[in-house]
Amino acid sequence: LRSRELYADSESDALQLSETICVGVREVRSGVSAAESLEELKGLIEDKLQVIDNGLAQFVSTQSRRAAEAGDVIERMTHRLKDLEQQATHLREDLEVQHARVLLDPLTGILNRAGYTEMVTKHYARWKRYGGALSLAVIDLDLFKEINDHYGHAAGDKVLATVASKLKEMTRESDVLCRYGGEEFVLLLPETSTADGRTMLEKLRAHIADCPFRYKDTPVRITMSGGVAQFQVSDTVETVFERADSAMYLAKQKGRNCVFTDLDLPPEAKPPTS
Ligand code: GH3
Ligand code: MG
Ligand code: MG
Repeated sequence: LRSRELYADSESDALQLSETICVGVREVRSGVSAAESLEELKGLIEDKLQVIDNGLAQFVSTQSRRAAEAGDVIERMTHRLKDLEQQATHLREDLEVQHARVLLDPLTGILNRAGYTEMVTKHYARWKRYGGALSLAVIDLDLFKEINDHYGHAAGDKVLATVASKLKEMTRESDVLCRYGGEEFVLLLPETSTADGRTMLEKLRAHIADCPFRYKDTPVRITMSGGVAQFQVSDTVETVFERADSAMYLAKQKGRNCVFTDLDLPPEAKPPTS
């Protein structure tokens, strides 16, 4: 805004200067014909030249002051622009941090349900495009209500956090572990077949069952049941989840602390063979 004012002032000053020069020249011209002596003419010309000279000097000094001010305006604007750019960068970074935080479960530090949804959507899209094997495992802690009832909710929370970190330790960097709900976890296994998924899940089950959990020096046995299913061509995220969940329920029916795959389900619940 200030730069526009400066420009307008400069234009009107230039007009005024040109007017001053025109008037001076006109007066000199009429003086030439009207003057009665050379002396008089000389005096007139000197007067008019002085007026023009003054006008010019004033114009030049005003212009240079204006140029300096315009320079300041540009410098201030440049700084302000840099500030705004920096602010935008910080806001973007904050937003990324907030977004990442929203996807994490505060108790266990692993991805929560929202994180699961985001990751499974990405992995599903990648698998649809590039193919290969992708499996999904559902893990549910056994008789966890009893743990809470016996040792209290706080102890239950601690067990959940410990189990999550043990599961995390044992999975690959490329695997995606999420806390799907209360004492239920989902594990996404890229480049993993049903058979490999079962092996992986069995390893996790054995490890959790062998973990020496303690409550005030009393050993507490924590076990998990798991089910795994591999994505098939006609699958959606929901249909695979349903089969893995059914396989997990089969493990509960079979006495808990064991794992099954969707290939173990009754024929009508088995994966499509397309
Ligand atoms: P099952 O072997 O059939 O899975 O038995 P369960 O007792 O684990 O199953 P159920 O679904 O009946 O109970 C799950 C329990 O998990 C109930 C709830 O008290 C507990 N739970 C869920 N979320 C949390 C949590 O954040 N902290 C604690 N301490 N307990 C939780
Ligand atoms: Mg349970
Ligand atoms: Mg449950």
